[in-house]
Amino acid sequence: MTDSDSPPSEASRERLLAHRCRNDHLTYPGHTVCPTCGGDQVETVDLTDRTATVVTWTESVATPSGVRAPNTLAIVEFTFDGNSVTVLGQTTAGVAIGDTVQPVYVDELRDPTASLRAKDSQSWSGYRFEPVE
Ligand SMILES: [Zn+2]
Repeated sequence: MTDSDSPPSEASRERLLAHRCRNDHLTYPGHTVCPTCGGDQVETVDLTDRTATVVTWTESVATPSGVRAPNTLAIVEFTFDGNSVTVLGQTTAGVAIGDTVQPVYVDELRDPTASLRAKDSQSWSGYRFEPVE
């Protein structure tokens, strides 16, 4: 096992963060300015430990090199504090519209050895959405 095979510690893991502007608009992924009002982003909101609802989903069977096939993707909506934000991501299993899901961290969303890009040129980790019973 090499260092790159070791799972990161909980503290070092990236978090699933949305951005919030001064007008309370949430966006994911974060942008320098709010896409809705053009205002500055004033804080990040941690979505990592929240649940979301599946808005829609699709399954790709013809995937790029290194991407699992079939690859189920969902748009999920996090709703809290009177606001909501949608996130697109892979799922860990089949989902249906309206299902409740939670983010689960994975070291590799795709196989870096099957990419044209150098393994160290980018992050391969991220979050998938897992159905909650
Ligand atoms: Zn805004």
